Amino acid sequence: MAFDFDLFVIGGGSGGVRAARTSAATGARVALAEESRMGGTCVIRGCVPKKLMVFASSYREVIDDARAYGWSHEAGEFDWPTFRAHLHKELDRLEEVYRAILSRNNVTTYDTRAWLTDPHTVEMASGETATAKHILIATGGHPARPGMPNAELGIVSNDVFLMENLPKSILIIGGGYIACEFAGILNGLGVEVTQYYRGAQILRGFDDEARGLVAEAMRERGIDLHLGTNIVEMAPASGEHGPHPTESDAAMGPPVKALDMLAASGGVPGGPVWVKATNGTERVFDTLFFATGRKPNTDGLGLEECGVKLGRKGEVIVDDYSQTSVPSIYAIGDVTSRIELTPVAIREGMAFTETVFKGNPTKPDHELVASAVFTQPELGTVGLTEEQAAEQEEIEVYCTSFKPMQQAFAGRSDRVLMKLIVSKATRKVLGCHIVADHAGEMIQLAAIAVKMGATKEDFDRTCAVHPTMSEELVTMSTPIRTA
Ligand code: NDP
Repeated sequence: MAFDFDLFVIGGGSGGVRAARTSAATGARVALAEESRMGGTCVIRGCVPKKLMVFASSYREVIDDARAYGWSHEAGEFDWPTFRAHLHKELDRLEEVYRAILSRNNVTTYDTRAWLTDPHTVEMASGETATAKHILIATGGHPARPGMPNAELGIVSNDVFLMENLPKSILIIGGGYIACEFAGILNGLGVEVTQYYRGAQILRGFDDEARGLVAEAMRERGIDLHLGTNIVEMAPASGEHGPHPTESDAAMGPPVKALDMLAASGGVPGGPVWVKATNGTERVFDTLFFATGRKPNTDGLGLEECGVKLGRKGEVIVDDYSQTSVPSIYAIGDVTSRIELTPVAIREGMAFTETVFKGNPTKPDHELVASAVFTQPELGTVGLTEEQAAEQEEIEVYCTSFKPMQQAFAGRSDRVLMKLIVSKATRKVLGCHIVADHAGEMIQLAAIAVKMGATKEDFDRTCAVHPTMSEELVTMSTPIRTA
């Protein structure tokens, strides 16, 4: 049978765009449909705008600290509308970069929603249809609110970048990456942040000591973090807390794409909310923010009708090569709920191309994937936590905690944590955990050594770079405990 394309990709995020580009580069005829904006979660409503907000939020502290170093500046007020306009101009620019990549590689793009009608046919909201030998589902995920009455009163991470004004107070529900990162960002921008997490400690799944230190640093910076606490009831608030004032786009600088789309859609949800918590408190917050996890985007894609098996959360079930239960259909990235990180989706996309278009069956490597939580300070991690490693084998734990020179000089009580988990039997470093400013940058480099299978003695043989924080990683001579 003659198909219109060799590959049809549904979803123009990091994974889908990479798979489309690398497949097209082999000479394959490739099409890609995206219903929203090219670049997906990472570029448009995730990692990139989040990191720019992390930068924006960090200047107040830097300016405060600068006084201890002899400078005489004051931080002044943060101007959200100015920042927001600049942010969205930058996102528009990045979207164009993604479009240019696709067009340079002769990928046919459709700016519309697409779904499957059979294992080789895609129908589009634009009315077009296309057939393809292979179909790749790269539709990502979306933030999920808890299934509770009035949950639609809360905003989710997608909305944060579009808020017209910063609220005076915000309640963040959740203790994962997104909850903790935005708690730090909004606190740094001058918002009164309260955070409720239902568990005993934030950042479940990360090393216990690292979680504890991040939680302490968050509280020290003024975040009102409540553990073992959840929301039980919510309702719109009235009285002195009116709805968010609206501003015209003209007042915020030149129109940019997301802001145009926002105006057309009637604005961001949210507004003052009365909240009752499990600890008995009742309070009104200007904004309620659910950072309660993400769900795969599989609704209405016609997947199950075509025979594609989905998991309990709606994720696409794939084998080691990202192939679904229907041989012509593959899936990569967050929609498969394997490891929900951009670089992982990109690698899954490249492994797909190797497997399907280069005749070189390749499994994406999900072992020892490093990541960083962009809290203040950051948490960088690779490999096993102490708790996971101790379950598996006998270990030595090397750990140090100290006041970093730069902040100590400015009179701050910040502490840094450097921790290595070492196998007693093989001497391999099984895990590395860093809580520090720029821990994301440090863990990237430590991850190379850990991925190569470096032993503790390899770390020890490496001469320190002095004076740095990360030199502690190669100077910890005695285990603080064994387990
Ligand atoms: P997470 O799964 O990390 O966190 C969700 C949080 O919400 C958890 O603390 C969870 O609690 C809590 N929660 C879930 N349901 C409820 C509920 N009904 N009521 C109260 N609390 C609830 O999801 P995120 O949305 O933060 O992030 C999604 C993924 O995106 C991450 O896992 C990560 O892979 C990726 N990401 C990566 C980033 C990075 O690399 N820096 C940044 C942002 C996201 P509990 O722990 O008890 O389940």
